Amino acid sequence: MTKDAAQRILIVEDEAHLADGVRFNLEHEGYEVEIAGDGRRALELLSSGVEGQRPFELVILDLMLPEMSGFEVARRVRASGNYVTILMLTAKDDPADVVRGLEEGADDYLTKPFRLDELLARVRVLLRRRRWDGAEVVADPEPDVRVGDAVIHFDRFEIETPEETVTLTTREMGLLRALVDREGETVTRGALLQEVWGLRPDTKTRVIDSFVVRLRKYLERNPSDPRHILSVRGQGYRFER
Ligand code: CA
Repeated sequence: MTKDAAQRILIVEDEAHLADGVRFNLEHEGYEVEIAGDGRRALELLSSGVEGQRPFELVILDLMLPEMSGFEVARRVRASGNYVTILMLTAKDDPADVVRGLEEGADDYLTKPFRLDELLARVRVLLRRRRWDGAEVVADPEPDVRVGDAVIHFDRFEIETPEETVTLTTREMGLLRALVDREGETVTRGALLQEVWGLRPDTKTRVIDSFVVRLRKYLERNPSDPRHILSVRGQGYRFER
């Protein structure tokens, strides 16, 4: 992939006029955009990919879709091992929908009806080019953190392992930041829900656990016997270098 290739976005939305409007604006911002009108089509486009096409880097996923819901689409995408960034659109500000969407693997959410500039801003953040090019050099970069064989580059949203460099989503990075900043201390589940996801501390959800599974995959030599992101039973998580 060349450095200047447009980033590809898939819009999964059955309301054609809404999808077209969003596409028009995203294309105007320089993204390459495809629309899937239902969940099945979305899964087709995401799973097989099309010969000669680069993979999608972001999916804007409406939850209210005919036949197969957005929840189900997210679940299947993740079950297939695809960690493309997912921004879900929830019909109303229903905390239960938000929680369920995050549990199924969405990275972020936006409540309908949304303002277009809000959507575009969110897309920019999620797709921020995290490479170290001139435009993004900051005056006081955050120091890297070495964890076993891996290095966390907070300023680039990356974890570098001996095998690969993984780009983290904003919430993955937020969770890691919250734990690393309190190294050696137990951070409660309630505090993490509030700080990282903006949810009420008493929200019943497995979202933290599924994110921890992903972070352990990158940071732990043996994810089933973690040494760095430790579960503290009944309380939360603790980070040890
Ligand atoms: Ca819809």
